[in-house]
Amino acid sequence: MRFSSKRITRSFAVTISIVLSVSVINTLPATGSTASMGAMLENGILFPIVEQTNLGKIVTTPCNTEIVYNGGEFLESVDVVIDPGHGGPETGSVGANGLVERDLNLIVALLVEEELLSLGYSVALTRRTDLHMPIRQRTAIANALSPKAFVSIHHNGGAVRRSDVPGTEIFHHVSNPESKRLAGLLFEEIFEAFNNYWVPWVSTVHNGASSRLSEPGRDAYGILRNTPEIPSAIAEAIYLSNPPEAELMTLPEVQQNEANAITRAIHRFISTSDPGSGFKPSFIDGVMTGTGSARGCVDSEHEQDLEVTVAYANDEFASLTAAARKAGMSVEEFQMFGVHALDLFLKLDPESDSSQEEITAPAVTGSNVSTVSWSAESQVALARVGEKYGFTSSEVQKMGATLMVFLTSLD
Ligand SMILES: [Zn+2]
Repeated sequence: MRFSSKRITRSFAVTISIVLSVSVINTLPATGSTASMGAMLENGILFPIVEQTNLGKIVTTPCNTEIVYNGGEFLESVDVVIDPGHGGPETGSVGANGLVERDLNLIVALLVEEELLSLGYSVALTRRTDLHMPIRQRTAIANALSPKAFVSIHHNGGAVRRSDVPGTEIFHHVSNPESKRLAGLLFEEIFEAFNNYWVPWVSTVHNGASSRLSEPGRDAYGILRNTPEIPSAIAEAIYLSNPPEAELMTLPEVQQNEANAITRAIHRFISTSDPGSGFKPSFIDGVMTGTGSARGCVDSEHEQDLEVTVAYANDEFASLTAAARKAGMSVEEFQMFGVHALDLFLKLDPESDSSQEEITAPAVTGSNVSTVSWSAESQVALARVGEKYGFTSSEVQKMGATLMVFLTSLD
């Protein structure tokens, strides 16, 4: 088979070979969207948009995996994003009465949404069900929707020191003054709401609004660290691990009062310049629970596979079949591998472009037809390479095959 793209030089090919030989393909983590590109919304699940390509939108799934996605309704931005902390196997703290933080956070978040909607705000929740979702996906959703406020709802665990007042702790971004003001208002409202009750509370020295850092200047919480441009705060209303507080939190009236307090804080944050109160100096404590990563997260299927058909001339197909056999792959795997290699090369060297020499699309006609089934996840490579060169999926698939035949011929 003749190599149809002369642009791909030997050194390029060697680079690819090295990259392939260390087997890093498909192990690069999804970065999640950082730009405010909006999100697609379907059945209550938000898919923040990472990139628009000619072959479809690249979004991230609840498990923070990039896929090509064609469903849903477009949501450009909202006033407020609420994040019910934890979910799925990540329970968060657990009360002695069996009340689980994961569930309580969602109950309160849904009440906050209702209250904010009644005040005329547009609202999005990072999750509306018991969904396993890494921190990176939660912050990708917030960044995609560029809200005026982003609040992560939690109920704390761990403290044992008796206190006459609720041990409310609110955390803000270390260097964003609006995040700090939001935290001060959340502290004021939530502390006051719970201070109307009397139970044997527990608290720590961090009772108040402060920043928890892993090292000087660096936020320990990913929720804050990944959203530097957004007024964000984490609310730990009370200590669910303290049995009397867990009992209190089973009461619907108390859940509603907490939701009302969070709503008032957000409303005051957006509609006034009130400074908030309860501020404490930032502190360094980098010991984290280790939850919130994408490890063990399993997505449900959000998109169908895509069948891409390419035709090869007889001599091309003979070289392709021989090269695939030499590589120990099926002809289908071999084509797919080639596209992932092209995508990886673009990731490692995004400045490489075709400005000096035009790359012409390979002809996709011939008498030997090969169809490859691409999962929504693997379509991302197809879409990125297609966008880069202005090629169709069939052309990209054939370009990948061409590259692989060439690489296999080197030795
Ligand atoms: Zn929590």
